[in-house]
Amino acid sequence: MDHPCTPHTAQEVADELGSTRNIVQEHLARLTERGTLGSKIVGDTRIWWRLADRTHREAELRRERELTEQLLKTAPVAISVQNAAGETILANRRAQNLLGLSEREILDEPEDIDEWEIFDANGDVLNPKDKPATRVQQTGEPVFNEEIAIRRPSGEQMWFSVNAAPMFDANGNLDRVVSAGEDITELKKRERQLEHRKSELETELSEILGRISDGFYALDDQWCFTHVNGRAEEILQHTETELLGTQIWMAFPNAEDGPFWEQVHNAMDTQEPVSFEVHDAGVDRWLEVNAYPSKTGLSVYLRDISQRVQREHQLERYEKIFETIQDGVYSVDEDNRFTMVNDAYAEMIEYSPEELIGAHSSTVVDAETTAAAQEIKQNLERGEAETAKLEADVHTASGRTIRAEATFALLPADGDSYERVGVVRDISDRVARERTLQSYARQQRAVSELGQLALENPDLDDLFTHAAQLVVDVLDTDYCKVLELDAAAERLLVRHGVGWRDGVVGSVSVSSVEPESQASYTLLSGEPVVVTDLPNDTRFSGPHLLTSHGVTSGVSTIIGSLESPWGILGAHDTAQQSFTEEDVSFVQSVANILAEAIERHRYQDELEALIEELKESNERLEQFAYIASHDLQEPLRMVSNYLQLIERRYSDTLDEDAREFIEFAVDGAERMRAMINDLLRYSRVDTETEPFEPTASEAVVERVLSNLQMQIEQTGIEVTVESLPTVIADRNQLEQVFQNLLSNAIKYRSDEAPRVEIDVTERETDWLFAISDNGIGIAADRQERIFEVFRRLHSREEYPGTGIGLALCRKIVERHDGRIWVESTPGEGSTFYFTLPRVEAHHE
Ligand code: ADP
Repeated sequence: MDHPCTPHTAQEVADELGSTRNIVQEHLARLTERGTLGSKIVGDTRIWWRLADRTHREAELRRERELTEQLLKTAPVAISVQNAAGETILANRRAQNLLGLSEREILDEPEDIDEWEIFDANGDVLNPKDKPATRVQQTGEPVFNEEIAIRRPSGEQMWFSVNAAPMFDANGNLDRVVSAGEDITELKKRERQLEHRKSELETELSEILGRISDGFYALDDQWCFTHVNGRAEEILQHTETELLGTQIWMAFPNAEDGPFWEQVHNAMDTQEPVSFEVHDAGVDRWLEVNAYPSKTGLSVYLRDISQRVQREHQLERYEKIFETIQDGVYSVDEDNRFTMVNDAYAEMIEYSPEELIGAHSSTVVDAETTAAAQEIKQNLERGEAETAKLEADVHTASGRTIRAEATFALLPADGDSYERVGVVRDISDRVARERTLQSYARQQRAVSELGQLALENPDLDDLFTHAAQLVVDVLDTDYCKVLELDAAAERLLVRHGVGWRDGVVGSVSVSSVEPESQASYTLLSGEPVVVTDLPNDTRFSGPHLLTSHGVTSGVSTIIGSLESPWGILGAHDTAQQSFTEEDVSFVQSVANILAEAIERHRYQDELEALIEELKESNERLEQFAYIASHDLQEPLRMVSNYLQLIERRYSDTLDEDAREFIEFAVDGAERMRAMINDLLRYSRVDTETEPFEPTASEAVVERVLSNLQMQIEQTGIEVTVESLPTVIADRNQLEQVFQNLLSNAIKYRSDEAPRVEIDVTERETDWLFAISDNGIGIAADRQERIFEVFRRLHSREEYPGTGIGLALCRKIVERHDGRIWVESTPGEGSTFYFTLPRVEAHHE
């Protein structure tokens, strides 16, 4: 390449340099780029030539311009250039393509220029002076990334992001403005779509949030409310307007210090959702909170669970009660299968709760009880009662039977069915106690009944039989016996008994001295003996009477005193009965009653014998009195007869004194005769009698009054007589009673206006007669004595009489089963009372 102007091909240069064409071509291209070589394609061959220095510069500049132009033309960005006058002097291909205009049309402006419209980013029509290129022209400042829209007359709209920059000449004057526009139509379209979709989504979301029944609110990363739905407004008791933009800790200061604060902070820190329940003290409610954190904030869902929590608390409380209650509690379903049991119930029947759940009630009670419980359930379902009780046997796992009382109620279950709930109490102890009390009461009743019977004084054998039967009934034993100790105190005869084989009672006896006998042991020990296992008893082994009857248990006790026992009372059983203290004291009580009855009978027998003796001696006495008085009359008559004879025959020879002595003797004999007569009358009260018959006492009194008429008239005594009843009496004797009492009332009258009154009172079992006078009266200490034979309070000189009258009255009244007595005040008067049984009713 010597000649600067001589062009060469790459092959020529390679040949000259002895190199390959490719290396040379590469080298030449680099030099060309630097402006050292010129190059162009001629025909189909590229040629290179060396450039002179000026030419070189020019070539360089040209190349640059070419390059720029090339760049401008081919750049994928629409580019236009304006000159200082604002005329477009260049529009590259991209610009042409985009606008659908040729460069010429662009440079000269299209014919339909008026129909082209330019808008700014906000969609407002852009004033020509506000176009980016124009502004750069005017200000000399570049414009970056300005978005404009161009609408073609066809209506098609394009978006451009425009950069425009000024270019200055060597003098610093604005020479050109280069504008580059990037087609962002697609981008804009996409953006609009996105915005549209976003707003669509937002509407959708807020609709969804508004619709959800849970409370919902959203907080931004500053804990400020950005959304609150209607339910949340209700729950938080603040409107959305109040809350939006407010920090939650400001709106709800209480929340700042507590579990809520911790939980939501934890959620934000870990970016993990949290779910928790919290008590809102401000409005006293429980909230379930579900919080979903994101980088930009927190979405919180709220649910008011106060009712549920309340229910849960209530349930917890019930469960607590259910578990702590000491009574057994269970429930069974429609099929009588356990659905629930508490520990107390499980413990009571010795199963574990797990074993019972699902098990049928027949596991623990018999079919009858289940049926009864079922019936109660139906009653409850019909609303006939709210609870009901049932007493039944419950069988435990170990085979024991417990007496239990269940109180039933209904528990609503699924649908409209009910479960039966039972509260069960073990009443075995109570039942046992009741049984003991009942048997105790029965024993007491039996004892008092027997005591009553004993008081009625029955035949002893009847009493023994009754007692033996009572003991067997009350103690539920097979046998009972009453043993009587014989006179020698060697054997005990079975005098009465229940349950024994024929031929035992009345003939079999047991030893009271031999050591194998329970009876002899009882006599010896002196207290009740209880036997629970006779064959194995170490104290005694028999007797045969017991062993031959298969007796294994029993109680025996002494009848009578320890010092002189009458016998033994024994209750015996073939089973191994255990006898309680009450049982023993019951047997002892029966024995005591028997002993008392025996004692009373003994006493009564003695008494009767004594009475009999007395009666006999009385009769003998009466006999003697009768005979004596009767036989005394004869010698007495002789005494007075001979005295009278002496008086008559020797009256002349007798001096005054002798006559007076004889007079005394006659008088004495006379008195003696009267007394003997009285005595005779007295002794005849029981012997010379008339039959008892209805007697009109009024008529008797009238007769007496007529007997006494002369005295009554002489003394002027006033006699008043009430109407008197008919009585059963010996008429003559009754007349004697009235005669004696009335004549006494006359005899012992006082001086002024003597009165006597006879009246009668009808009493329950008798008539009470009263003969009252206003006479001299009787001193209190003598009122008893006057009824004795020949007992007098006065001398014969004061008042005549022998002192037999009242004694006779008493004897007669007593013979009529009555009583006689006096009530009197000396100086005021006396009232003599006597009674006669009211038996007439039975005779009518
Ligand atoms: P007598 O009248 O023959 O002495 P009674 O047996 O009739 O015997 O009476 C016994 C005694 O009782 C009397 O002596 C008298 O002292 C007293 N007496 C009886 N009746 C009355 C009377 N109505 N008022 C006062 N004293 C009486």
